[in-house]
Amino acid sequence: MTDRAALILQAAALLRQARAGLAFTGAGVSTPSGVQDFRGAGSGMWEKADPMEVASLTAFRYHPEVFYAWVRPLAVTIHRAEPNPAHRALAALEAAGRIKAVITQNIDGLHTRAGARQVLEIHGSLREATCGQCHRVWPGGPVLARFVKDGAVPRCPDCGGVLKPNVILMGEQLPEAAFRAARAAALRCDVMLVAGSSLEVMPSAALPLEAVTHGARLIIVNQEPTYLDERADVLIHADVAEALPQMAAAAGCEAKAYV
Ligand SMILES: [Zn+2]
Repeated sequence: MTDRAALILQAAALLRQARAGLAFTGAGVSTPSGVQDFRGAGSGMWEKADPMEVASLTAFRYHPEVFYAWVRPLAVTIHRAEPNPAHRALAALEAAGRIKAVITQNIDGLHTRAGARQVLEIHGSLREATCGQCHRVWPGGPVLARFVKDGAVPRCPDCGGVLKPNVILMGEQLPEAAFRAARAAALRCDVMLVAGSSLEVMPSAALPLEAVTHGARLIIVNQEPTYLDERADVLIHADVAEALPQMAAAAGCEAKAYV
C-alpha cells in the first residue's frame, strides 16, 4: 500500500468514528472547477489592482463601476463553474452523516450545488445581493447572469440603487450569523476536515485551531502547507478532487452521490 493510500484509510477511519464531523474548505476546493483563488499569488487579480483601491467597502461605495470591471472575469468564471468531485465527496460525507456541515470561505455556491445541505458561508455568497439605497435583498443568480452578459453595474429594480453582492469585501466584517454558527460548530465537532485551504485568511482560519483546542481530531488535505500541519492527525498533501472521493469511498459513503 502506498503512503497516500494509508493516509486516506486513516482519515476515513476517523470520519467513520466521527459523531460530529465538520469540514472547512477554501479556494483549493474550487480550483478543480476552474475558479481561481482570487486571493492567491498568480491569480493575477491583485497584480492588476490594489485590493484596497478596488475591493474595499469604501472603494465599492465610491466607485462601484471600478469594482465591477475588476471582478468581472471572476464573476464569469464562477457563473460557468460546475461542482467537482471534491464538492461531491463532501456532500456524500454529509449525506452519510460523517460530517454535519461544511464551513466554507468560498463564495461560489458550489458546495450547495453539489448537494451539501448545511453550508456555512463565512465570507458570504453570490446567492444574494443587497441594494445600497433601499436595502432590499435580491436573489443573486439573475443579478450575476445579467452582469456576466452585459457587464453593467447591477442596479436595484425598485429604486435604481447599486446592488452589492452579499460577499465580504476587503476590510469588511464577516457575516455575523454565519460566523457565529461556524464557530459553534467548530467548538462542537470531534473531527475537523480541512480541505483546500492554506488557512491564511483570518479570522476564519482560526476556526480549525479552535476545534483542535477543544479536542477535535484534525485531517488536512491541501497542496500547500498550513500553520496547523503539525497539529494534524492525518496530513495529506494532495489534489482534493482525488483525495476526497477516495476518502469518502473508504468511509463507506455511497459512490453514486459523488461519481
Ligand atoms: Zn433599492
